[in-house]
Amino acid sequence: MRKKEEYKFKWKNFFLHLHVVNRHRLKVLILCCRAGIIWRGLVHDLSKYAPVEFFEGVKYYSGNRSPIKNCKDVNGYSEAWLHHKGRNKHHYEYWYDYETRITSPVMPYKYFVEMVCDSVAAGMIYRGKKWTKEYQLTYWLKTKDYAKINPKMDKLLTQVYMDISRLGIKKVINKKALKKLYLEYTR
Ligand SMILES: [Zn+2]
Repeated sequence: MRKKEEYKFKWKNFFLHLHVVNRHRLKVLILCCRAGIIWRGLVHDLSKYAPVEFFEGVKYYSGNRSPIKNCKDVNGYSEAWLHHKGRNKHHYEYWYDYETRITSPVMPYKYFVEMVCDSVAAGMIYRGKKWTKEYQLTYWLKTKDYAKINPKMDKLLTQVYMDISRLGIKKVINKKALKKLYLEYTR
């Protein structure tokens, strides 16, 4: 944990954070449209505008990393994240609680697709020009050991990110390819 410093609200960070949230949501919307889940794209991450999420994002804004991670580094937890993952079914963290030992449910198709679009969009926004199609796989392989995700979802996601790293976004983030993989891995 880093040392707490005295906090001063900055309007500049207010607008910068707002801009990141809006850009992220637009990118997710574009990907969701390609994947055939337009409504999920439109309502994606709306809870980020709730004060508990938004103002933490302003406070821990840094531009190239999620403010949630910055906040966790300082405080050990993030209220914004607790609020967010408790309301947004596109996060696999929504689907388990601390008593989960064996397995959590298979996520419904539309939330699985939204999760893929979300992670790709977030990678692109935070990495900027440094983003490559291999990035999502690398990121997932680093985090998946801690994820109490359903084993079928784990294998499915690994496959999706492997396909993206091989074929790029267009060939994977579309209705046909994602539906096929989902059915193949969840049956
Ligand atoms: Zn989200």
